[in-house]
Amino acid sequence: MTQLAPYACQPELSRGRRYKEQEAPAHAPSFRNPHQRDRDRIVHSTAFRRLVYKTQVFLNHEGDLFRTRMTHSLEVAQLGRSIARALNLNEDLVEAIALAHDLGHTPFGHAGQDALNECMAPYGGFEHNLQSLRVVDELEERYPAFNGLNLSFETREGILKHCARRNAELINTQEPNGIAARFLNGTQPSLEAQLCNLADAIAYNAHDIDDGVRSGLLTLEQMQDVSLFARYHAQTLAEYPHLQTQHPNTQGRRVLYETIRRMLSDQVYDVINATRAALQQHAPASADEARQCPPLVQFSAAMYEESKALKSFLFRNLYRHPQVMQTTDGARAMVQELFAVYLAKPQEMPAAYAQRSDVPRAVADYLSGMTDRFATREHARLTA
Ligand code: MG
Repeated sequence: MTQLAPYACQPELSRGRRYKEQEAPAHAPSFRNPHQRDRDRIVHSTAFRRLVYKTQVFLNHEGDLFRTRMTHSLEVAQLGRSIARALNLNEDLVEAIALAHDLGHTPFGHAGQDALNECMAPYGGFEHNLQSLRVVDELEERYPAFNGLNLSFETREGILKHCARRNAELINTQEPNGIAARFLNGTQPSLEAQLCNLADAIAYNAHDIDDGVRSGLLTLEQMQDVSLFARYHAQTLAEYPHLQTQHPNTQGRRVLYETIRRMLSDQVYDVINATRAALQQHAPASADEARQCPPLVQFSAAMYEESKALKSFLFRNLYRHPQVMQTTDGARAMVQELFAVYLAKPQEMPAAYAQRSDVPRAVADYLSGMTDRFATREHARLTA
């Protein structure tokens, strides 16, 4: 890795792990820094493997080529790392946060999420960011001496992207001045964490266009309403006029890919340039000083508007598309019914969950960890 900028999270200055651990075996020098170690722990975790079978937008069984939470997370890591390298930020930390950022997501995408939120409303609520943190802090069972993966402060800080004030206060009592303190004192997370948030949005905006067009729910004509898309679509056709005329099916796909590639590249350069300017203006001399600044990893004002327009286009035309809503309504009902069954009969869950005293939270932990297909099987077993 190239020299880290002074405002990057320096691995040797990590605020460490919740449980003291030796960073390397006694007989060998360490060849991984704490954030590389975090990334490796995430990749080897059970929750990470489950992301393969969790819905991003399209239900997992609807087609083999649609994004899942896994491929989405890999795309976020790829975009994040490219930008991190250009800005001399801590690429390993960005990768760790990106790969872990969706670990707490329920099966069946947004629908499953909304359903579990509603079920848990009387019992302290359910927040997927907080759940991602619970997965790495508590729910993974991989070490003899402690629960969770015992990740470094910086990775956990990045995973906890949002958090309701009530939950922030709760975490802050257990972990004074820890990862939730920023929600109470109004400071920012590390630049690496800020970058992951933006890379997340860049990734899903782009891949949801791809999946949306591939599924036939979005058309290229419709996409002309989105300036960010229309600009590069026109540019691609102007440069490769033969793509417009020959073999509409296969060539149309190349036009789509080239348009998305250019959109991604433009956004990446935009973030790099806008962030460089903000860094120059605020000149943070350390990662902690960067946390005291306003958010610095950002789009230019013009790109921010274009990205917002794309996001709202996708919301209206894809996420709320009647065909998407119809399949997700079924998924929502499945989560609600599963929740009710486990709440009434905790013994239907594995012992580790069934024996917990806070039954609703145990159900939420168990249910949110499920893959789409496991939840479907459980639903068939319990409601037949
Ligand atoms: Mg995401």
